Amino acid sequence: MIVMKFGGTSVQDATAIDRVASITRDRLGEIPIVVVSALAEMTDQLLAMASAAAAGNREKALELSLAARERHFNTASDLLGTGRFAQIHAELEEEFNGLDDLLRGVVAVGELTPRTTDNIAGFGERVSSKIVTAAFSVRGLNASHVDSRQCIVTDATFTKAVPDLEDTNARLRETVKPLLDHGRIPIMGGFIGATRDGISTTIGRGGSDFTAAIVGAGLDAQRIEIWTDVDGMLTTDPTLCRQARRIKTISFEEAAELAYFGAKVLHPATLLPAMQKNIPVLVLNSHNPKNEGTCITPTAPKSKNIFKAIAAKKRITVVDLVATRMLMAHGFLKSIFEVFANHRCPVDVVSTSEVSVSVTVDSNESIAAIAADLGKLADVKYAGRKAIVCLVGENIRSTPGIAAKVFSAIPDVNIHMISQGASEINISFVIDEDDVPSVVSRLHQVFFSEVDPEVFA
Ligand code: ADP
Ligand code: ASP
Ligand code: MG
Repeated sequence: MIVMKFGGTSVQDATAIDRVASITRDRLGEIPIVVVSALAEMTDQLLAMASAAAAGNREKALELSLAARERHFNTASDLLGTGRFAQIHAELEEEFNGLDDLLRGVVAVGELTPRTTDNIAGFGERVSSKIVTAAFSVRGLNASHVDSRQCIVTDATFTKAVPDLEDTNARLRETVKPLLDHGRIPIMGGFIGATRDGISTTIGRGGSDFTAAIVGAGLDAQRIEIWTDVDGMLTTDPTLCRQARRIKTISFEEAAELAYFGAKVLHPATLLPAMQKNIPVLVLNSHNPKNEGTCITPTAPKSKNIFKAIAAKKRITVVDLVATRMLMAHGFLKSIFEVFANHRCPVDVVSTSEVSVSVTVDSNESIAAIAADLGKLADVKYAGRKAIVCLVGENIRSTPGIAAKVFSAIPDVNIHMISQGASEINISFVIDEDDVPSVVSRLHQVFFSEVDPEVFA
């Protein structure tokens, strides 16, 4: 059995969904389970509807919802033809009426709770998965829709709910496994789940990759395929540097670092479930299905290049703390990290001196409140619009003088923090967000203008 996940651009319209059906047909012998995202940009639009409603802008919320309704109806009717579309029409109509009711409710109460946000945000996957199921059936594929809220069991941390793997695996065995045994193709929406009490949740933006990995690990898949809009994991984000090359094979550890530090092609949580079960993950291009993509495996072949790829994570805030009472007394770091933990705010890069500590966090609304709490322990300054650039590769372990090579390529750039060591396979540093395109291109030029043909394409 394999899990095939198709992202937003892979299901963006009727042509794309038609392609998904043929890609899946080519793999019927491997017993696929299909996980789909919302149609491209749908989740952003749903969140925009929710904000408009919360701001009391009823017209705008309903106007956006109407546009979404029309887009889904058009996609479905293009895919299904009149007869089958008539069957699904009432169901979609009911879903969209429900969405409008919800938006009107938000306007009426003048408040958008995280719980309602998740109910609205997950709407895209709820309807895309139904349309894809109908499209498969019309094309003679034995597809069955699975409501992911029946099997992905999460806690109630709305907008980034944490799946409970034990309960989820049991539900997957109960609901999805029997479909496979009956020769059917289960089709489920990514990104969404529900609490044990059945309240809708989402598992974080870009989370459909993670859903695919949870399903794959829970049912012991032979392979997890992430179908997207680029040829695989590339040496850097192609929107930052057009010279980006495809990585043929990369290790779990390297790919996980890249995903964590901003390579959006994979949600950062995706690889853990796959790693635990040793399930290879393939990243493939649904617009170019013949391409071999990237294979992520426990160990990667040796490469002549020092690095496998460069990632950049924007929207970072740097927090500088200077101890007020005494020089870094024992317990100082602990109290600082407790403040971040109390605000459920993960810290990425850390650097310390005798009296000061700098850390980076993802920019978020709580930063002022966090700074106020930190202010009880230290003098605090913070600055946003920063980015972490991260170079990843297992050769870092065995190559001396790498940092010198990296920083001499960008001598004029203001570097706020540097970190190397923890995982031994990444060098990361913090710069101003505006410097990202130039820094990434220059580093790419230095480290990837020649590539090892065994590892890169
Ligand atoms: P999907 O909707 O299929 O989940 P995403 O937009 O989430 O697709 O991820 C694919 C995008 O990730 C690519 O279009 C590319 O711009 C971006 N990306 C960032 N870093 C990388 C990288 N190292 N390799 C490939 N793509 C990357
Ligand atoms: N549709 C969701 C998002 O845009 C999940 C995903 O596409 O992975 O964040
Ligand atoms: Mg994605």
